Amino acid sequence: PYVIGAECIDTTDMSCVEECPVDCIYEGDRKLYINPKECIDCGACEPVCPVEAIAQDRRVTEENEPHIADNRRFFVEV
Ligand code: SF4
Repeated sequence: PYVIGAECIDTTDMSCVEECPVDCIYEGDRKLYINPKECIDCGACEPVCPVEAIAQDRRVTEENEPHIADNRRFFVEV
């Protein structure tokens, strides 16, 4: 699945939400989260993010690696 990284914190631009064909991007307190069980890996959200916060989990930058687990945790808690 695709993952939203730290760049989204306090940005939450929402462009990706409009782009996602399966509506799997959800709003948290300070950033947006992609539900890994619902994401179909289409990639539509990645180019529309103005802060380039979105990447496929296999390609996330080292500093955004903790966000893969953080993202998963978000959907366990809701
Ligand atoms: Fe939605 Fe596609 Fe982005 Fe997954 S990759 S979050 S399905 S737009």
